[in-house]
Amino acid sequence: MKKITLLILAALLVLNVAAKSPKYVFLFIGDGMGSAHVEMTRAALAATTKSKFRVGFAPLSFTDFPVQTTAKTHSSTRLITDSAAAGTALASGEKTSPGTIGMDTHHTKNLPTIAESAKKKGRKIAILSTVSLDHATPAAFYAHEKSRNQLAEIASWIPKSNFDLLAGSGLLEISPNYYDSIAQHHNYLVVRGEDAKFEKDEKVVWIQNKKENISSLPYAINRKEGDMTLPNMVEKAIDHVFNKDGFFMMAEAGMIDWAAHGNDAATIAMEVIDFSNAVAKAIEFYQEHPEETLIVVTADHETGGLTIGRGDRGYDTNLELLFNQTASKDVLGSKKILKINKNAGVGFTSGSHTAIPVPVYAIGQGSEEFAKPLDNTDIPNIIQELMGL
Ligand SMILES: [Zn+2]
Repeated sequence: MKKITLLILAALLVLNVAAKSPKYVFLFIGDGMGSAHVEMTRAALAATTKSKFRVGFAPLSFTDFPVQTTAKTHSSTRLITDSAAAGTALASGEKTSPGTIGMDTHHTKNLPTIAESAKKKGRKIAILSTVSLDHATPAAFYAHEKSRNQLAEIASWIPKSNFDLLAGSGLLEISPNYYDSIAQHHNYLVVRGEDAKFEKDEKVVWIQNKKENISSLPYAINRKEGDMTLPNMVEKAIDHVFNKDGFFMMAEAGMIDWAAHGNDAATIAMEVIDFSNAVAKAIEFYQEHPEETLIVVTADHETGGLTIGRGDRGYDTNLELLFNQTASKDVLGSKKILKINKNAGVGFTSGSHTAIPVPVYAIGQGSEEFAKPLDNTDIPNIIQELMGL
């Protein structure tokens, strides 16, 4: 009797999962984006409007998602993680040591990623980032190397991945004939610049024009006409990988982290708004395919120990001042930035990462599975189960 009950329960469970299986899955990662990065941006936007929000929190595209929780980010050997260990956790569902890309703590085995599993099951794959494609977060979805610094080795995994679209600022350390070689031997089309064109069935590596800084797209706060942007990348990627068998897309805003390392609050806010605009492209797609789409938005770790309110300002905030800043710290210099932070009422405890758990937002098919306290490793494991990989 007990056995039969268990069997029925198991069958119901399978049916339940099958019924909720999303065909189109988006995983958005704001690198270094803690709750404070999101809430500071919302409060700054509210403070600049004349609406009811003036004191409060204006919405971003994902902040009203029905499922919201937090995820712990620690690595296997250190409470404060890095983008390599955290990226590996978000890609493979396994903890590893800082610096490691797609391998276990002691580098004895490669850890398969959800993107690789989805590709094997016939889904199309897009990996997008505002930084270079060999940087830790995107690399964690296709590469397996002992160190995040083995950039040439990491790049060699791109053609092996067979993924349908990889888009970012460039690749930092590659052999001179790398792009020719992946085109000749692996049928990759290499395209450049914001208005790059590519056909639906082509395998594509999409990077910035040669004259641009190879290590990242420009910060949103410094953007000029014709620069590549994450919202545009997501929009084009959706067109490229949309097909009847489904897709998995990872899109990273990699420079929220960089601005936070520099304690540059205004640049953080502009990066978070850009990230929100990128998620909005996925939400438009979700609205057309609500029964088949899952969107998960999270971060790999917090950077900067950012908060709203600081000791030398008491109860005062003037967050609207952030939008008076005209460029990032590397353009304006740190003196100006520190003054704006102080007058705005935002504080940082660190120029590094912190161990504080990060926010998770989910909407769409299967999103209720995320409605519990999470570890970062749970996120790919839930996605994998929902997608039936
Ligand atoms: Zn970082």
